Amino acid sequence: MHWFNLDLFLCEAAIYFAVMTTFLHFRRQLGLGVFLTALGVMHFMETYLAAVFYIQLPFGTVSPGSSVFFAGKLMMILLLYLKEDAATVRQPIYGLFLGNLLTVGIAQILHAHQLVVLPGGRPADMAFLNEMGWLMVWGTALLYIDAIGIILLYERIGKILRGHVVIRFALSGLLMLTFDQIGFYSALHFLFDAPPSVFFGGLYAKLLAVLIYSVMFAIYLRIDHIPRRAKSGREITDIFNDLTFRERYQALLARTGIDGLTGVFDRSRLEADAPKLIRECIDQHRCISLVIVDADNFKEVNDLFGHLRGDQVLKDVASRLQIGSRPSDHLSRFGGEEFVLLLPNTDHDGALALAERARLNVRRYVIRPDGRPVTVSMGIATAPEDGQTLDLLLARADERLYRAKSDGRDNVHGRLGRFVGPLAGAGGS
Ligand code: GH3
Ligand code: MG
Ligand code: MG
Repeated sequence: MHWFNLDLFLCEAAIYFAVMTTFLHFRRQLGLGVFLTALGVMHFMETYLAAVFYIQLPFGTVSPGSSVFFAGKLMMILLLYLKEDAATVRQPIYGLFLGNLLTVGIAQILHAHQLVVLPGGRPADMAFLNEMGWLMVWGTALLYIDAIGIILLYERIGKILRGHVVIRFALSGLLMLTFDQIGFYSALHFLFDAPPSVFFGGLYAKLLAVLIYSVMFAIYLRIDHIPRRAKSGREITDIFNDLTFRERYQALLARTGIDGLTGVFDRSRLEADAPKLIRECIDQHRCISLVIVDADNFKEVNDLFGHLRGDQVLKDVASRLQIGSRPSDHLSRFGGEEFVLLLPNTDHDGALALAERARLNVRRYVIRPDGRPVTVSMGIATAPEDGQTLDLLLARADERLYRAKSDGRDNVHGRLGRFVGPLAGAGGS
């Protein structure tokens, strides 16, 4: 009887792998949705079987749910990664993860129903619903780790065994499923006092399933080569970032972080970066200064020469400010004709000197079409003395900018009023 069970077990594994691989292979014709939906449907079947359906095999009592189908699903996730990429495979990884959480949540609501037993019907399987509790949440978390882990393992092993795709496939499956079995058995042991035989029976069944899948994978490779991924040159962290959607977040920052006209950072980028820069300096007991730069009488430039020439002048001002700054400085366009320079590790006097140089550079090199210089006014604030947040520093610097404007424009104002340094007047016309 054990051997007959084993035959059926092998048969289930072979059919699962063959059919799912066919869906995956023909994804261009069928659409990837067919493969993904089938994966989800089989995932539910697997959960159900693992809860209630156990058979005797020569090496122990096992459920095809947690061996054939669970192992199969992980290998399918790896196979999808091999055929597509990390950005695609994360869709089922997150779908299964979030779908499981939804299942657990809905099960809690279902529990509250008053049930009707139909005449001649079966009573509802409340024991199954009860399974959808903490154990399922634990299993869900493990599945998420397994799914990302198997891909990273495959790549990691690839650093050593470059061309040996089948061995990598098998090894990453064996290692990841061993990890999974340890994780899941720990919970079973803790909650239900499950004996070690449950651990070993389940482990052997999962490993056997992986071996069957690896043999079938080798056969599949004879039909369909996977040369592209055999030698992935990508860094593990890159793949990890793809798998966890991090690159979306970074792309979002990169896309919105640059001002289209001048090419310097934009205001959202300043607001994203400044708190961290300020905090780092304060934590290290260093100063950080903020300079607001506002073009003088800029409206006049637009009125006299048109908006397009005005735009060109703004670009010139931005590049002058950039040329004078250091790599660690953070220049952003704060609004229309206003810029903010954030200067880490710079005290108030240092910022005044740097701002004064920038002011002279603008007036010397940015020239209006009528030959007159373009000038800027600046207000400076320094943390920690003037405040320890971006908003406070902006407010202080803005007050000082206002004073610089009232003071005739084309000057720099700091804590002690108008800056009169050794460079003052050096660039005058
Ligand atoms: P002040 O010396 O007091 O700063 O005078 P101002 O004319 O520079 O100041 P105000 O704030 O009154 O006007 C700013 C002008 O900047 C208004 C607008 O015409 C111009 N401006 C804002 N954004 C842009 C832009 O993207 N391109 C161009 N060409 N002009 C802009
Ligand atoms: Mg302004
Ligand atoms: Mg202005």
